[in-house]
Amino acid sequence: KERTLAMIKPDAVTKIGDIIQMIYSENLLVTKAKMTKLSWKQAADFYSEHQSKPFFNNLVQFVTSGPVVAMEVMGDEAVSAWRKILGPTDSAAARSDAPRSLRAQLGTDGTKNAAHGSDSLASAARELEFFFPSTTSG
Ligand code: ATP
Repeated sequence: KERTLAMIKPDAVTKIGDIIQMIYSENLLVTKAKMTKLSWKQAADFYSEHQSKPFFNNLVQFVTSGPVVAMEVMGDEAVSAWRKILGPTDSAAARSDAPRSLRAQLGTDGTKNAAHGSDSLASAARELEFFFPSTTSG
């Protein structure tokens, strides 16, 4: 079984019920969850791979505009299974190409796209540690 990091972005936090239902419908489990408001620094760190992209500031502005819900999602091929539930990055593209996907149903546009999913096992490990750090003492 794999573990991945799912993050409900500020635009879709009120849709958490629908999102958890979509996760369980695909035979995945939510094994950890945390609601938090990210600082600018935390969001910039989380999205550091995108720091040279033209949309970086919009992205950080958006994910710090309200609380997010981070979840550890577990199951067979959880990384790709969760990204398949999400659908294409751009919500408008999702509505034409994958109308049943989460972003088609709950997203607004290319930035406000409801949720995030780790894109690889390595990213999942880093992003799970970001939200759910393993402690070595205490
Ligand atoms: P995520 O990493 O959030 O799961 P993704 O892997 O589908 O999404 P990325 O290309 O990694 O998409 O981009 C990360 C996030 O940056 C997107 O989810 C979106 O919120 C924002 N973003 C990506 N491309 C654009 C763009 N061209 N214009 C505005 N925002 C964008």
